[in-house]
Amino acid sequence: MKPARFDYVRAESIAHAVEVLAGAGGDGKILAGGQSLMPMMNFRLVKPSVLVDINRIAGLDRMEQRGNRLLLGALVRHRMTAQDPLVARHIPVLHHAMKHVAHLTVRNRGTFCGSVCHADPAAEMPMMTLLLDGLVHIAAPRGARTLPARDFFLGSLVTALAPDELVTGIELEVPAPGTGWGFEEFARRHGDYALAAVAVTLRREGGRMRDVRIAVMGVADRPLRLEAVEAALEGQEGGGVAIGEAVERLKASVTPNSDLNASADYRRHLVSVLARRALAAAWDRAEIPAG
Ligand code: FAD
Repeated sequence: MKPARFDYVRAESIAHAVEVLAGAGGDGKILAGGQSLMPMMNFRLVKPSVLVDINRIAGLDRMEQRGNRLLLGALVRHRMTAQDPLVARHIPVLHHAMKHVAHLTVRNRGTFCGSVCHADPAAEMPMMTLLLDGLVHIAAPRGARTLPARDFFLGSLVTALAPDELVTGIELEVPAPGTGWGFEEFARRHGDYALAAVAVTLRREGGRMRDVRIAVMGVADRPLRLEAVEAALEGQEGGGVAIGEAVERLKASVTPNSDLNASADYRRHLVSVLARRALAAAWDRAEIPAG
């Protein structure tokens, strides 16, 4: 398949990109890595009148530490995130999750922000943005704004981004030192989109679980933070009993749909198995505070 006719503009700056988007009357699209956009255009699932290529805008390919947050610019590719030593040391849950993203060729071009904007419910980056309390920085003709990740994802391939807005970067919270983590995913083949995945971070304090975070995908039209399950685990003694109860609560709280890949019951079961493993791994990895 070939895409429908479109105009191409190579943006010189963020302001230029926003100006072209605004001029396209809601019909323009940002081109980042093109790994999701181009297939969708080739299948004519989207037919933008103009493509705004941001690949030459200086500075957008930077990763920058800002206090306890890491900023990923709009042109940070999956490969950079996967290989960055700061990510590996300080956000190991993200480092590990990136190993599950697609294949080398896709990882060389695809961008973290592009994946978040695309909002595929089976993609790792939106889920990690939720887990790490991400902030999405947005440039718009009306001025800049920042949205927390929990307000950004509205449904399958649907976000709070207006058609004339550009994501300039995403800030992720760097977990406190000693935080334990778990990431479990099931896909039919390595590099395929996941059927389901669960990511967890937590701290140990006096034998109890603190700051528990659980993000899941594969059970809804968007990634979810399971806040009720997190709250139920907060302050509980770590280990098997509390985790077993949490997994039962989690199972009761998710309402997946059946689809071509799996039935609702299978997805519910799968996510509960992955959650049990991820919680146990996070507890085991969490450092016992000195003293
Ligand atoms: P593009 O394709 O350029 O854009 C995607 C959408 O986001 C478009 O609508 C575009 O207009 C918009 N957009 C992009 N950047 C911005 C921005 N800065 N501001 C506003 N809008 C923007 N992903 C996974 O998570 N896991 C996988 O296992 C996986 N497997 C894949 C396998 C294959 C064979 C392929 C082709 C892709 C796979 N992907 C997977 C998708 C891949 O991660 C894409 O790179 C990603 O979804 C989109 O990033 P991109 O930079 O290529 O965005």
